[in-house]
Amino acid sequence: MADCIFCKIINKELPSYKVYEDGSFYAFLDIFPVNHGHVLVIPKTHYPDILHTPPEVAEGLMRLVQKIAPAVLKATKSEGFNLGMNTGSVAGQAVFHTHAHIMPRFPDDGLRLWGHKPYEPGQMETVSAAIASEIV
Ligand code: AMP
Ligand code: ZN
Repeated sequence: MADCIFCKIINKELPSYKVYEDGSFYAFLDIFPVNHGHVLVIPKTHYPDILHTPPEVAEGLMRLVQKIAPAVLKATKSEGFNLGMNTGSVAGQAVFHTHAHIMPRFPDDGLRLWGHKPYEPGQMETVSAAIASEIV
């Protein structure tokens, strides 16, 4: 896609610190890492987000996460990581080309990814039923 930053990275019109590439996928360092070793994994074909990505491509992306994340952990001497896919601008998605964040974590690294919003009594029944009824 013409004005997509990640398509430009794949096409080498923009530089990146590549960690992996094959015929269908590309992985590189995030330029604003939450921790050093923060990697983005993307399909080479442009889809705007995970909900608009064909299931077989999403499957390949997850397979690649399983391959790359252990390398991130070894290389950064991290014992765990957060896997993220921001979907929609309200969720913080800034680049509308499907991507998975692999974010290595370290003890006391100061990151707090999310807080908690407790349910009122009875609300969990309503919310779970509403979601269940929308699954197609
Ligand atoms: P998201 O907010 O989930 O859309 O994440 C987009 C990510 O892309 C952010 O974490 C940015 O730091 C990262 N990013 C944007 N431009 C570049 C670039 N040129 N090279 C590497 N990472 C980038
Ligand atoms: Zn793109």
